[in-house]
Amino acid sequence: MAAQRDYYQVLGVAESATTDEIKKAFRRLAKQYHPDRNPNNPQAADRFKEINEAHDVLSDGEKRKKYDQLRRYGAFAGSGGFGGGAGSARRGRGAPQDSGDFDISDLGGLGDIFSSIFGRRGAGGGGGREPEPEDTETEVTIPFRVAALGGTVPITLAMPEVCPTCGGSGAAKGATVNTCPECKGRGTVSFGQGGFAVNRPCPVCRGKGTVPSQRCPTCQGSGELRVEKRINVDIPAGIEEGARLRLKNQGPKGRGDLIVQIHIATDRFFRREGLDLIGVVPINLAQALLGSRIKVKTLDDKRVVLRIPAGTQHGQKFRISGHGIEKNGRRGDMYVEAHVTLPEKLSVEEQEAVRAFAEKAGLKY
Ligand SMILES: [Zn+2]
Ligand SMILES: [Zn+2]
Repeated sequence: MAAQRDYYQVLGVAESATTDEIKKAFRRLAKQYHPDRNPNNPQAADRFKEINEAHDVLSDGEKRKKYDQLRRYGAFAGSGGFGGGAGSARRGRGAPQDSGDFDISDLGGLGDIFSSIFGRRGAGGGGGREPEPEDTETEVTIPFRVAALGGTVPITLAMPEVCPTCGGSGAAKGATVNTCPECKGRGTVSFGQGGFAVNRPCPVCRGKGTVPSQRCPTCQGSGELRVEKRINVDIPAGIEEGARLRLKNQGPKGRGDLIVQIHIATDRFFRREGLDLIGVVPINLAQALLGSRIKVKTLDDKRVVLRIPAGTQHGQKFRISGHGIEKNGRRGDMYVEAHVTLPEKLSVEEQEAVRAFAEKAGLKY
């Protein structure tokens, strides 16, 4: 967690500012620091973000109330009321630590409020608390046929899993568990600069607060292993391009959910329009002019005979009813699009025949 600037200072308004005043200040500053007006200026971009964040909290009565509550604890850099930085705030309140740092998790329940305001989790590290399970996202491209008809697609993902040797403790068999020398068991270490510092999960014990006398040989003490996990994804029939499937508790360590975004490969023959399938079938000149019966394959590999009438035009579509995609009890149709292919080269005799035909049909050439 980075040092949080005081939102009132960010917007340059008084603590007692009305919602209107806050809005006005926000509009003025947002205009000034808008990325469009400050291209290639990362400082302006940061400021713009900060302004938005401040406005987001202070313009919302409920969020602002909570924020004010936190602010009174001196949680933010340069908060008013304590004569400067949070370091003095800490001393002023007789807090036990000697350094001038401030750990939001010391606030207990308020730390959670902080997270809910800023949409972050585990602010400052929680002394061994497991972080909230997060969703993991992945993408997979599936065959056209599976997307249309449904089926199962296996995917392989490298994901952290609980180490089977130590069960996640990170300790070797028979090792003793000691208080972490780096953080003295707190699970967090402070960092920062100037008058303000915040706590971060201890890198030695990874926030656990304890270290084993001997590390687990399998996971080197991390308690987890990246393993290739094979997961079968059930694809419902008629799934759309870009759809996301949520696989409950299939995330890392079986805790969070796995979100699989589906992409659909193109098919040689078919394309989709809603629940309808469109397949292109080449026909020759004689078939187009004289009519024909052609065999076409449906998506589920059935053969259907299609009658092509005399005088079929290039691109003309013929419906084969009920052979489209079935989804939620509805079924689309299949369309066959006739593409007339012409011979690229004609022999002398063939040219004669075509000329004779053209004469008869009154075609100029
Ligand atoms: Zn292990
Ligand atoms: Zn530690």
